[in-house]
Amino acid sequence: MATAAAQRIDGVPITNFVDGQPRTASGQSGAEIFNPATGKASGWLDFSTPDDVADAVAAAKNAFPAWAHTPPAKRASYLFRFKELLEKHRADIARHISAEHGKTHPDALGEVARGIEVVDFACGITSMLRGDYTRNVGPGIDSYSDREPLGVVAGITPFNFPAMVPMWMYPVAIACGNTFILKPSEKDPSASCFVNELLHEAGLPAGVMNIVHGNQVAVEALLTHPDVKAISFVGSTPVAESIYRTASHHGKRVQALGGAKNHMVILPDADLEQAADALMGAAYGSAGERCMAISVAVPVGEETADKLVNILADRLASLKVGPASKEDSEMGPLITAEHREKVAGYVDLGVEEGAKLVVDGRTPEFDNGFFLGACLFDHVTSDMRIYREEIFGPVLSVVRAADYEQALHLVNVHEFGNGVSLFTRDGDAARHFATRVEAGMVGINVPIPVPVAYHSFGGWKRSLFGDHSIYGPEGVHFYTRLKTVTSRWPTGIRAGAEFHFPTNQ
Ligand code: NAD
Repeated sequence: MATAAAQRIDGVPITNFVDGQPRTASGQSGAEIFNPATGKASGWLDFSTPDDVADAVAAAKNAFPAWAHTPPAKRASYLFRFKELLEKHRADIARHISAEHGKTHPDALGEVARGIEVVDFACGITSMLRGDYTRNVGPGIDSYSDREPLGVVAGITPFNFPAMVPMWMYPVAIACGNTFILKPSEKDPSASCFVNELLHEAGLPAGVMNIVHGNQVAVEALLTHPDVKAISFVGSTPVAESIYRTASHHGKRVQALGGAKNHMVILPDADLEQAADALMGAAYGSAGERCMAISVAVPVGEETADKLVNILADRLASLKVGPASKEDSEMGPLITAEHREKVAGYVDLGVEEGAKLVVDGRTPEFDNGFFLGACLFDHVTSDMRIYREEIFGPVLSVVRAADYEQALHLVNVHEFGNGVSLFTRDGDAARHFATRVEAGMVGINVPIPVPVAYHSFGGWKRSLFGDHSIYGPEGVHFYTRLKTVTSRWPTGIRAGAEFHFPTNQ
């Protein structure tokens, strides 16, 4: 067991960050952080107690009034400087991600780029916060509506995008005038700590952005603290649902994004080579540890299915599994030994359930690290657990559909509704699918339809609990509340006391 305190790869200790300063968590409990490519523990992360969380909330509460009344353009100016620093340090951030998550360097760079897009969006917050004004809503009476920040808001994030998912939240939250507390994944906290330093190098006032590390103890403290006004959560569905219930019960606004089982429907007229390329990246990129990964392929018709499975099996034979340190690696390890065992257990289960394991990656060529090779199942049916449950690994299930209607029905009755994709050359079918399918994010000949930062990201059904998607215009609405001011100037107009409800009649 590694007993040394956790450090980032640049040697900086991984600690809480409160009121503009690193702060040591009380550390009554903690956990090891691993390098998934070697399987070695790199250090011990101290977890925060409820008192540590209360300190962070107090700092954020203290910073809130001045920050809320800072002009939006001034708030955005910090984000412009932050964005410049992010651009300059793209590769450094990516290295921090790969060291603890295991994803390849190009994949980590892609994550950073998608995070920067949200900062870019938040730089334009002035136009998003512009209000509405109406003169003469009554005699000499004017009205305006605009949106105000909520106060202290918190974000709880998963391991799979340690830089990008936090950046779905805090750039928008702080641009809107809130102060923020981030509880990153305890499995790979370095990237968000490194990025937080850049935010402060950009001059952000102390207390506006704070970080607490920990597990459910720290999360529970955030969910129940009376001074935390809203919770953004991204993670697995059981936790998302429980976060939603607890935080709502404590009077907070909540957006809780959960797990997924994303389907790709392939119609007989689709370009199968293109569909197979798309599936390779969408199913096995980042070792399948993406909430928008495609984990189910639904070819329509036996001929389409036979051809698709053959092409995929061929491509998988040359897929390069390896550590991020090897330049030609296309797929890295899984996040932990436990998760590797869980995913391998699902592959065993699929075999027991009667699916045909066309490509078996259970014994990859690595002695160390949490590697699992790519797996491909054919003849998976909708009653199997490997179909119904989120596996979150490099396992693609092929479910054969007799016709388009059956494929659409399959997607629509699944409990998750995050993303979905259709590959076809038929515009009529594409339009029908886009308007009938029950999922929050739809791709037509696009395998991972993650919306750009000025749209918003969010699933349906048990992939999202709450009323708001994340980032983009929905993010601005989530992190602000509407105020309408009705005023009469000059005050000299006297109508006498009126006891009826005021109208223009
Ligand atoms: P997770 O639910 O285990 O953990 C997410 C966060 O919640 C972490 O910060 C963790 O410390 C905390 N947490 C874990 N258990 C908790 C508990 N019992 N009470 C309170 N807090 C708890 O998820 P993960 O394994 O880190 O991430 C993978 C999951 O996230 C997958 O299910 C994936 O689909 C999902 N995900 C969803 C989206 C989306 O946008 N819908 C995006 C990324 C990841």
